[in-house]
Order: sequence, then structure tokens, then C-alpha cells
Amino acid sequence: MIEAVCCTSCQSIGLKRYMHRGSVNRGLLLLLLFIVPGVLYFLWYFLEGHWGCSTCGSRKVVPIIDPDTMTIEAQTESKFA
Ligand SMILES: [Zn+2]
Repeated sequence: MIEAVCCTSCQSIGLKRYMHRGSVNRGLLLLLLFIVPGVLYFLWYFLEGHWGCSTCGSRKVVPIIDPDTMTIEAQTESKFA
């Protein structure tokens, strides 16, 4: 599930995105010139990555709590308290 996050680096609010390291073009070039390094590059490309800010790519993101959910939780807590 993709959740809304707030980036602590650029202060933008948006959906978090999975970031790949490297580039597909570099992997294709390696694959065309050298088969084994190209395959290894694509393995590294798909296995190494992280979730981050969709604006700046930073890993420093914090999830945003849905205000509607907070209201329901607050109402539930007040009923049982
Ligand atoms: Zn950011």
C-alpha cells in the first residue's frame, strides 16, 4: 500500500515512491556490450532500492496520519474512556 508521507528534507507532502539506484539506460548498454555485467547490473538495480520522497528522492520521510482516521479513533477513545 502506498501511503502519504511528509519529507523532512524538502518539506513536500506526497505519496512515497520506490527509488531504484542506477539507471536503466546504463544497464541496457552493459547488457548489449557485456552480457554478464549487464545481468549483474540489472540484478543490483532491482534488488537495491529504497522508499523515499517522490519530489527529491530523500529517504527521510515520515508517514502522514489521516485526519479522518484520527477523528474516528478519538471518538472511539472518548466512548470507552
Ligand atoms: Zn523530499
